[in-house]
Amino acid sequence: MDDFIRTDNNKDAKCSFCNRDQFIVKKLIAGPAGVYICDNCIELAHSLIFMPGSDHKDSQDITEFPRPLEIKKILDQYIVGQDKAKKKISVAVYNHYKRVSLNNKDDDIELTKSNILLIGPTGTGKTLMAQTLAKTLSVPFAIADATTLTEAGYVGEDVENIILKLFQSAQGNIEKAQKGIIYIDEIDKIGRKTEGPSITRDVSGEGVQQALLKIIEGTVANIPPQGGRKHPQQEYIRVDTTNILFICGGAFIGLDKIILQRLGKSAVGFKPTLEKHVLYEKEKVYEQAVSQDLVKYGLIPELVGRIPVVATFSDLSVTDLVDILTKPKNAIIKQYQKLFETEGVRLEFTREALRTIATKSMDNSLGARGLRGIIEDLMVDIMFHLPTSKKAPALKITKKMVEESELKFQNLKFAVGE
Ligand code: ADP
Repeated sequence: MDDFIRTDNNKDAKCSFCNRDQFIVKKLIAGPAGVYICDNCIELAHSLIFMPGSDHKDSQDITEFPRPLEIKKILDQYIVGQDKAKKKISVAVYNHYKRVSLNNKDDDIELTKSNILLIGPTGTGKTLMAQTLAKTLSVPFAIADATTLTEAGYVGEDVENIILKLFQSAQGNIEKAQKGIIYIDEIDKIGRKTEGPSITRDVSGEGVQQALLKIIEGTVANIPPQGGRKHPQQEYIRVDTTNILFICGGAFIGLDKIILQRLGKSAVGFKPTLEKHVLYEKEKVYEQAVSQDLVKYGLIPELVGRIPVVATFSDLSVTDLVDILTKPKNAIIKQYQKLFETEGVRLEFTREALRTIATKSMDNSLGARGLRGIIEDLMVDIMFHLPTSKKAPALKITKKMVEESELKFQNLKFAVGE
């Protein structure tokens, strides 16, 4: 196409639609008479034409999204346990994308967004759940840690940087970023200290919550294309956050006491002993969390209102941890077996060895998070020597070996001398 030239040789060239400079955009295409269009505007125009609900056959229809049952089945392949949470999340996510697809059509009933709150101890699969969802639905994904965020103008990370991360994960495709998933971890750590409205500005807590609220409710976020602080002269990328699905997660340590307090009050004179017995199972307590408990914990009511789907994650048992080691599609043991296989070695772990690894991780209070570290420490010397040494065709890791914490390759029968 001879009319369309790259404009690298015209230093002043700008996109005639968004006015962005050629050095900011990835590609600038020249039309006749000094008219230019950048890659972003081409994508935007494309998305308007091929928007879901338009009659073009390329439009994305909800029928293309996996149904709740299908979503859960995929989640089951990667995440052990957490059945109730999986079910709830599958429904919420399906409804979310249904909403995205329907709200683009002319209709008088507007479905509201169902952002998700995941409550549960560390290392129980909350982040993994959000990641797996994004992978399952092939949408861009970004993770943010709420404790690093500050409201604009303070030292720390601007809330809008989260959107930038999503935009980058969408490889600069605004349309895709606008339908992505953002996971905000440690949401419980930005609670305000008092329940009443604060008199002074609370930089670490309420201010950040307000800033988060804005992007979660839906706003057009102006993000600096290169990240970092905003500069008045800078050109911004505009990302509409209305259809982004937000999943927030936190351990909410102590929330159980707040819930029990509430239930205790309302349960006065109503079979108190029986009720108490049922409620003291911690997981069951967390499952009963309602908005007012979260507000009492320190989240602002507006934010709680915007994250209506609450799913609780339970502590993992030793058996769960063993399953995590062995069952998911990309389970750690499977990964090690594959690595060994490429060296011509069949690797096996006895059941007791696996249980010992699981128990160690539990003792460190890391949930499943500690498993990889334990195995890596255990295997490091073997992995070091494996490719360059003579070895037996099979290696069986036993409980006794795991108890040693680091296995010395040379001490194993597995090492075959010259
Ligand atoms: P959280 O966000 O709840 O603190 P993560 O999702 O980050 O925990 O879990 C850390 C790691 O532990 C994951 O990457 C995964 O390897 C493993 N893991 C945790 N929970 C599960 C689970 N339920 N099923 C499978 N793997 C899990």
